[in-house]
Amino acid sequence: MKKMTVIVPCLNEEEALPIYYKEMCEVMKQMKEVEMELLFVDDGSIDGTLSVMKDLHELDDRCRYLSFSRNFGKEAAIYAGLQNATGDYVALMDVDLQDPPQLLPKMYRILEEEGYDSVATKRSTRTGEPRIRSFLSESFYKLINKISKTEIVNGARDYRLMKRKMVHAILEMSEYNRFSKGIFEWVGFRTKWLEFENVERSAGETKWSMKKLFCYSMEGITGFSVAPLSFASVIGMLFCLLSFLMIGIIVLRTLIWGDPVSGWPSLACIVFFVGGIQLLCTGIVGQYLSKTYLETKHRPIYILKDSSEEERSTKSVRESVWSKCGLDQSA
Ligand code: UDP
Ligand code: MG
Repeated sequence: MKKMTVIVPCLNEEEALPIYYKEMCEVMKQMKEVEMELLFVDDGSIDGTLSVMKDLHELDDRCRYLSFSRNFGKEAAIYAGLQNATGDYVALMDVDLQDPPQLLPKMYRILEEEGYDSVATKRSTRTGEPRIRSFLSESFYKLINKISKTEIVNGARDYRLMKRKMVHAILEMSEYNRFSKGIFEWVGFRTKWLEFENVERSAGETKWSMKKLFCYSMEGITGFSVAPLSFASVIGMLFCLLSFLMIGIIVLRTLIWGDPVSGWPSLACIVFFVGGIQLLCTGIVGQYLSKTYLETKHRPIYILKDSSEEERSTKSVRESVWSKCGLDQSA
């Protein structure tokens, strides 16, 4: 029997978790032909998320959990999940039901019957999302697809089901600055896209602030394109050419007509403008340098504080100690 692991990253989701589990129980009932495993990743939650995970693990053997020592981000949670998944098929899913679990049986069938390596999903609409957020997202996708060779699909969700060979390929990419939407495309493999309408969150609030989204988009750009660096070089060359031209004009004007060079305001504007461009280009180089700096430190992508495996082994050690003493634990 084949096995499927569903990785579920969670940050402060104590309300959404039980709703998700209930929904997944229905879906798992429909998927009798495959052994299911739910792998919850607690990304440093400060509410009761971890206790709910522990309860689910006690209640249902199919539930496992990993818990981080602090918030490392959804990307780190995905990576940890992929590293610890044991299934032949691996799915990634949000806990807030914005990734409809009812799609999972269909995704599984596509992989089994149509010979694809992965089934990915994207939103056909952005209803319910603030307008400014939709506008900024659309602009980001347009920009990155212009400057990157890796296609980043507009509206793509992280919700997808993959075969083990694709998971291995993703794990090979152990970079510290992770942008999964790019990584999934970069590794290749045959992927079928399914569309669904945007759904509102089941409970709780979104964990993505504008600032977090901006940093994430910078991760995408620096991770999958070096075009901004070329832009800095091109703009530098253009300004050199322009300055040679201006020097030539001023020298000629002075020699032929004896015109004095006039006007400090225009000069001040030029100094400010060129200074701004220089800082912009230094900033672009700085962005790449900072990513390289973090990459060369080889820090771990996440740190585990607790997991269902640890819980299981300490429990069995406890039990063996009790039985060695000839005592019944429940007594
Ligand atoms: N999430 C996480 N770590 C984070 C941010 C989010 O594990 O730092 C999880 C979150 O609990 C949820 C999923 O990632 O299961 C998607 O987050 P959210 O629903 O807040 O994002 P949105 O759907 O609004 O883009
Ligand atoms: Mg969500």
